[in-house]
Amino acid sequence: MHSSTSPSENWEDYLARIHELIEAKGYARVADIADQLKIASASVTSMIQKMAKAGLLNYERYRGLSLTPTGEAAALGIRHRHRVLTAFLTQLGVPADVVERDVEGLEHHLSSVSVEKIATLLPKLRSRHQ
Ligand code: CA
Repeated sequence: MHSSTSPSENWEDYLARIHELIEAKGYARVADIADQLKIASASVTSMIQKMAKAGLLNYERYRGLSLTPTGEAAALGIRHRHRVLTAFLTQLGVPADVVERDVEGLEHHLSSVSVEKIATLLPKLRSRHQ
């Protein structure tokens, strides 16, 4: 499944997962990320090193990892688009399991402009159903 995804798709999912782990537990370990994304620890470590070079996170082998302000902002952006797209498809009546699958891909491919247009449409969709 992950072999068909693009590099940005990968790092966005990593970032979102790391952010969630840090929020939930106060830290994110390679083993937890590997477990959640169902990817080998070695692959997770290599991706994390790339993300550290790109300035998204700080990683020291024995001290775990933390997000930089840039990484944090990117993670919040990814979460926002994930929520907007989930709400949108749910409002359209798409079944939950399909929503989940579609959003996993869609979230990486829509421009911010399109996501914001959808976000402004959501309250109107909601009121129409009431
Ligand atoms: Ca995804």
